[in-house]
Amino acid sequence: MCPSPSPSKCDGFDVQLITRDASVGGTWAASRVYAGLHINSVHDEYGFSALPMPVPPDAGKTGGRLSGDDIRGYLEQFEERFLKGRVLFRTEVVGVRREEGDVEGLPWVVNVRDIGTDHGTTLRFAKIVLCTGGTSRPKIPEQRSPSSAVKAGFCGAVIHSVDFASRRDEILSTNGSVVVVGGGKSAQDICTSLANVGRDVTLVFEKADAISAVASPLPDFMRKSRMLSVLTPYIHLRTRLELFLHTTWLGNILVHAMWDKVRADSFKFMRIPPNSPFRNTYSAFWSTHSTDEGLFRENGFHALVNSGRIKVIAPARMNGYGEGGHSVVLSTGESVNANVVILATGYTSSWDDLFDENTATDLGLYRHKPVHEPAQDEWRNYRTLANPPPAHPENSKWSSSIYKGIIPAKNLLRRDFAINGAVVSHAVPFNLEFQQNPVGQSWRTGSLHLMQDKMKLPDSPESALKQTERDSAWLRKRYPEHSFSDNEAVASFSAFFSWPQYVDDLLGDMYLPSMRSGGNWLTWPFKVISSDELATLHEEREANRRKHG
Ligand SMILES: Cc1cc2nc3c(=O)[nH]c(=O)nc-3n(C[C@H](O)[C@H](O)[C@H](O)COP(=O)(O)OP(=O)(O)OC[C@H]3O[C@@H](n4cnc5c(N)ncnc54)[C@H](O)[C@@H]3O)c2cc1C
Repeated sequence: MCPSPSPSKCDGFDVQLITRDASVGGTWAASRVYAGLHINSVHDEYGFSALPMPVPPDAGKTGGRLSGDDIRGYLEQFEERFLKGRVLFRTEVVGVRREEGDVEGLPWVVNVRDIGTDHGTTLRFAKIVLCTGGTSRPKIPEQRSPSSAVKAGFCGAVIHSVDFASRRDEILSTNGSVVVVGGGKSAQDICTSLANVGRDVTLVFEKADAISAVASPLPDFMRKSRMLSVLTPYIHLRTRLELFLHTTWLGNILVHAMWDKVRADSFKFMRIPPNSPFRNTYSAFWSTHSTDEGLFRENGFHALVNSGRIKVIAPARMNGYGEGGHSVVLSTGESVNANVVILATGYTSSWDDLFDENTATDLGLYRHKPVHEPAQDEWRNYRTLANPPPAHPENSKWSSSIYKGIIPAKNLLRRDFAINGAVVSHAVPFNLEFQQNPVGQSWRTGSLHLMQDKMKLPDSPESALKQTERDSAWLRKRYPEHSFSDNEAVASFSAFFSWPQYVDDLLGDMYLPSMRSGGNWLTWPFKVISSDELATLHEEREANRRKHG
């Protein structure tokens, strides 16, 4: 089974999808989206070639910005058409291990729990694709946790942002103030949702995500092309244009001038005042902490901040819960009234609870201390990377063990386990179709290919490991402020605005043509990239199989 209109395109696999959710969508499942939620992507950036995405009704005005509900509806339609009967819903995977010996071709033992009945079952599979969303488990610092709240006698609810939609009614039925903690898009979306129904809401954060915003919708040749990706340095520079932009004096000036302009214009278009704490952001160039705001909205986050309907305390950290049960204490020493606390404090690896230590070690999931002698700075000719912000102190300690963010290097030759959804990307069509499906959303073409087809792969786990160390050295150079040491999932690989280059690499590894959007020497950076370019992958791969065996 595969999410394809034709069973003949299923690559011969009989696929079972397992999710603890009650419906498809993962991040965009019905239980997680709420009214007013807009995502970073515009129409078609989140579509699969097998199912055209309907154009949102107000696309003329918004540039096709998608709401959480648009994505939910699209993914549910996808399931209806292509995945019926293949998904085990409300089924939590509680353990995955591989048995050796006489296993009748089904070495993977998956323990699951029915969420409704709490009944446990054991299932067996030949191969596993892990699509639990990479870093999708709530990350809650101890001093802000619900248990710390109970110890401190806090009287209200403490809720992670992942549960906001499912507990929104409970939040709305509580009188008093809501404190939202976090500088990212989830925190801002939640504040917006609450302020728009008249709630007293205060946002507390230290540093905000970078934003990009526009005065009017961008034409497709800018928004959906390779334009942004060529202005972003990648681990290798494939084209003359990228070489010029990232390794020459003039190119460097142009690249940084462009990113500076995006930053300045975005502040202007979002009407963010010069002294606002929302100007204290990560850099869109050096970081993956980035939000695409699109157009200014009168009922949007920055409008509500400017009108005082969302209060902001920044830079500040929430340090814990105050005395009396109705306040939180900040790093500034301030005490803020709180009847509900919402922690938009991010996510950590979803893999930790799934594998016992033996299985994780045997698979090679754990990040490792680099064992190969580091090459001297391989990217020293990249002028665009010459003046980085200070490096995160933990960064040099660890290397990823996941080859290209998809296969644990140690397991490379067994070809029975792949990971999808852990590579950080400014998810647009190629990545989606390549790596995702609408349940969580991960697994499609790339992983299945890895399971069976001839590929350009390193010849041994050791050389794959060496490659992961090189990739990790690149990530440290490219995103110096980030702690890729936090957990195995976040360390695996990151391509963000360079997603087209990353997918081109994977296509090349599969002996398939890359840079499919076409164009000549002058026009290629402006050609629109569409998931339609992947519609024939199945046939191309079949042809390759006949050719290469
Ligand atoms: C708040 C937020 C905002 C985002 N905004 C954007 C955006 O605007 N644009 C964009 O392109 N991307 C965005 N992303 C990234 C987004 O996560 C991806 O686009 C996409 O949803 C990832 O799909 P996935 O299948 O890899 O993981 P997910 O969507 O996270 O799905 C993982 C699935 O695995 C299930 N699961 C996890 N553990 C288990 C278990 N043990 N047993 C059973 N099931 C399990 C989950 O319940 C879920 O169904 C956002 C992510 C978050 C968290």
